[in-house]
Amino acid sequence: MATIKPIEGRSVHQIQSGQVIVDLCSVVKELVENSLDAGATSIEVRFKNDGLDSIEVQDNGSGIDPQNYESIALKHYTSKLASYDDLTSLTTFGFRGEALSSLCAVSNFHIITAQAQQAPKANKLEFEHSGRLKGTQIVAGQKGTTVSISNLFSRLPVRRKELEKNIKRELGKVVNLLNEYACISTGVRFSVKNTDSKKRQLVLLTTKANASIRENIANVYGAKTLLTLIPLELELEFEPSATGKRLNRDLNKIHVRGYVSRPVVGEGRGTRDRQMYYVNSRPCGIPQIAKAFNEVYKTYNISQAPFVLADFQMDTNAYDVNVSPDKRTILLHDSAALIESLKEALDQMFQGAEQSVPQSQFT
Ligand code: ADP
Ligand code: MG
Repeated sequence: MATIKPIEGRSVHQIQSGQVIVDLCSVVKELVENSLDAGATSIEVRFKNDGLDSIEVQDNGSGIDPQNYESIALKHYTSKLASYDDLTSLTTFGFRGEALSSLCAVSNFHIITAQAQQAPKANKLEFEHSGRLKGTQIVAGQKGTTVSISNLFSRLPVRRKELEKNIKRELGKVVNLLNEYACISTGVRFSVKNTDSKKRQLVLLTTKANASIRENIANVYGAKTLLTLIPLELELEFEPSATGKRLNRDLNKIHVRGYVSRPVVGEGRGTRDRQMYYVNSRPCGIPQIAKAFNEVYKTYNISQAPFVLADFQMDTNAYDVNVSPDKRTILLHDSAALIESLKEALDQMFQGAEQSVPQSQFT
């Protein structure tokens, strides 16, 4: 029988990193969330050869504090969360300190960063795959941070092959994901470009800073989309269900804002491809909520699915984001009661909305 031995530290790091950074989407998601956490008002994402050659995310956020240069790419180093208790009152996207460390392990990776007082000088930081800082160098650069990734997964040959095979579909998924962040981030300008193997540049997405959610939708999906949308404004207040965890009364008060298709045949969509759900402006997948929207909408427009942009603003104690590595799955502590009250409110809203004026009529 083979004896049990511990896996060598370096290999453990590489295996675990493969769980945080699983594909092109997770790379972009982690970097964009870091930029948003740094208070950026401009985020540029640049792909070369669909991301196979390189991926670059540039922001004009706070920059990285020089005293953190040594630690940012080490595992579980984060400037955002100090203790487990902080997890319940989370307001940043990041909190595990895993993304940069994992990116280091699975790609070639460097950062150029400057805080306000350093610009127009910046520091270029290079790291070893272990996350250890290899060296710094003074370069020109404005306030903010640029993270550059090349040769993604080249150290994991099976995954690299998979990436190359599915790259077009992967890039499509990335654009969908960035659309979600771009639509909800009203104070942030997004620009996403790809330079293909023939050096042709294609703009995949642009929004403006200081635009409303409505304007963002128009920029991302085309102004015509607004013709079929009505504003979504719901105040949900519900009795907790028997299984629901009740800590304080505010947990059962939820404000929902956004836009949804008019409940009119012909104004929905053939598929569910444009449905974006958020909790406190964090994009996330909540299957029960999506199901509720689609079910109620169907009673008015049986042949189509709605466009949905719905942001559930609620007490941070009412849910847990720490359940999946990509932090996309959100666990609601009292989903049964929430869904009931949501369905009722949606139904009421749609009843009054068949005759309502679509969004393009508003200024
Ligand atoms: P987390 O986001 O969970 O803290 P990361 O590995 O994503 O972990 O990032 C590690 C740390 O690096 C962050 O806590 C932050 O201090 C710093 N950092 C990363 N990206 C940026 C950025 N774009 N601007 C400023 N600081 C950043
Ligand atoms: Mg992060």
